[in-house]
Amino acid sequence: MKRRIAINLILFLAVLASCAPAESTNKTPTAVVAGETVNQSPVESEATARPTIEPFRFVLPTPGAEPVSGWRPPLYPVPWAVSAYDHFYFARPIAADTVNWPLAEYRYGGVFFAPNIVHTGVDIDAADGSPILAAGPGTVVSADWGLYTEAPGNQKDPYGQAVVIKHDFGYKGQPIYTIYAHMSKIIAFQGQRVETGDVLGLVGATGATTGPHLHFEVRLGANTFYSTYNPELWMAPPQGWGVLVGRLTDEEGQLLNQYPVEVRPMPSEVPLRTVRTYAGGVVNPDPYYQENLVLSDLPAGLYKVLLNYKGKDQQFWIEIYPGQISYFTFTDEEGFQVVPPPVPTLDFLPETATAIP
Ligand SMILES: [Zn+2]
Repeated sequence: MKRRIAINLILFLAVLASCAPAESTNKTPTAVVAGETVNQSPVESEATARPTIEPFRFVLPTPGAEPVSGWRPPLYPVPWAVSAYDHFYFARPIAADTVNWPLAEYRYGGVFFAPNIVHTGVDIDAADGSPILAAGPGTVVSADWGLYTEAPGNQKDPYGQAVVIKHDFGYKGQPIYTIYAHMSKIIAFQGQRVETGDVLGLVGATGATTGPHLHFEVRLGANTFYSTYNPELWMAPPQGWGVLVGRLTDEEGQLLNQYPVEVRPMPSEVPLRTVRTYAGGVVNPDPYYQENLVLSDLPAGLYKVLLNYKGKDQQFWIEIYPGQISYFTFTDEEGFQVVPPPVPTLDFLPETATAIP
């Protein structure tokens, strides 16, 4: 079936290619095909054009037309928790009338800059100058350059201009902080009380970044680089959408690190996302889920999950429910399973947001 689709596509592209030059020599064709297009070859004049037996070089479209990239329903009100162990305490730090979800390719725990700089937050691809909003109520504990280097005013700091909020609530008796980095302009000031949605600053590209975006972190227990947790488990999902959470381990029970896992909605099976597992280093699994994979913002429905492990393709199907976490495990022995998260230790009681003195 797949092969037939591919052949049809090639035929279609061949038709496309043979039609194109006749009517559109001076137009730049729209990229019907993602990636390298069939229209890239330089236009040859009639005199130099000669028949060639070299086959047409077609590049099939890269999977990546994301069916859900351009729109989100309104978010659930915060704090949002269907299960006693969930803690979607935060609104999104960018307004809902623009892109306010994590960049698919720059998630928590990813390694994007060689050799080993692990991403300790999520990136939101908001436009330069967009207002950055407090994700929850609290007190601004720092608003300056120098967050990483702990050197206020240090314009070489990788976070650039950043604001840190210590929230009015904690989790399991521990304080929670949120971090907003790479600002072009800081508006909030140290010591300021903020409510959810208050403007803290503007999106920019200060610090170690290739372009304007918001780098957002959730820190639990302490305001340090080493106390981050996956923000996709802390920001409220869009209404009717859910979150996929997985714990994938090898034969020794160690978390798989940097394994690509593909997620496809059923029944179309159009590849939707490839998300990488994370482990170790400066990233921390959730105290309850002990996960090493999170994919938020999935419309409710059935999904196929695929993993190549030890050279073998493994797959299973899982249902995503509105406003909830769907949890799975992958182990060397059992493969994929939809099972409850690890039994928490006795002192681990489910909790709602706790007041922090
Ligand atoms: Zn980032």
